[in-house]
Amino acid sequence: MDLERLQQQAQTAICDAADLAALEVVRVTYLGKKGRLTEVLKTLGQQDPAERPKLGQAVNQLKQTLLVQIEGKQHDLQQTQLMEQLSTETVDVTLPARQSHPLGSLHPVSHVSQRINSFFYQLGFSVVEGPEIETDYYNFTALNIPQHHPARAMHDTFYFADGRLLRTHTSPVQIREMEHRKPPIRLIAPGRVYRCDSDVTHTPMFHQVEGLYVDEQVSFAHLRSTLQNFFNYFFEQTVPLRFRTSYFPFTEPSAEVDIQCTHCQGAGCRICKSTGWLEVLGCGMVHPNVLQAVNIDSERYTGWAFGLGIDRLAMLRYNIDDLRVLFANDVRFLTQFSG
Ligand SMILES: [Zn+2]
Repeated sequence: MDLERLQQQAQTAICDAADLAALEVVRVTYLGKKGRLTEVLKTLGQQDPAERPKLGQAVNQLKQTLLVQIEGKQHDLQQTQLMEQLSTETVDVTLPARQSHPLGSLHPVSHVSQRINSFFYQLGFSVVEGPEIETDYYNFTALNIPQHHPARAMHDTFYFADGRLLRTHTSPVQIREMEHRKPPIRLIAPGRVYRCDSDVTHTPMFHQVEGLYVDEQVSFAHLRSTLQNFFNYFFEQTVPLRFRTSYFPFTEPSAEVDIQCTHCQGAGCRICKSTGWLEVLGCGMVHPNVLQAVNIDSERYTGWAFGLGIDRLAMLRYNIDDLRVLFANDVRFLTQFSG
């Protein structure tokens, strides 16, 4: 075998290899287990014994030379490939990052609360908050519910040992606000309230929003039109309302408001217990005793107030039939409300 010719062929092939795959074919052809150099080594036995060491040495040397050249070529090809990649590929740094963590979502009660706030905010109402641990005075007495008043028994109150309590409604917030503000007063007070009660439609903690408007010549007609507009806005449809006379110590006259069932449009279904109506809030004209308790002239000013269950509205808006799922903290349930 003419080693010189083999070397020339191999070197030409290395030079001509256009890419890494072609170079690998060249390597296998010459240096592989069944390669041409290996074949030359296999023929050593047939050679003149005096020539064998010399030939063996020459083959090994050629093998080393070719290996070095292949590695050199490999390096060149890799560099060329990299440069090509850099010149043709671009990185769009404006692309949004991949989400490695799932995004959170607002709780349905928060969605509904924000929707209520936004409606009244547009009417010039301020959104205020108050403490959840209240005194007997703010939760009852100032709201015209003196000691031993039968209405206290209906509130299922959680008491602390020192006589303080978990507020049973958001109404104490209106007292706190009226104490340091002068009419006109327009506010809503959303928040948590607590009652010792638990079943499919009651949880010991729930959410209420209080609305209050005090000014000269505020009338029941204002209240009625405000609530009508609110429910139309909230349910994005015309919602018939029904006012039923009722009794609350802190309003006179008082009313409970039903909306026509938003599921069956009044025809009667499971949600409205076939009545066609859903009870959603209590309201009325602020009792003169309440205004007097905060030193507002009840001869000059009148006002209306309402208390609305936020959770109840969330259930109606999202077709939820068990109040308790709102507070079970099940992520599978909650992530349905990401929109
Ligand atoms: Zn119905």
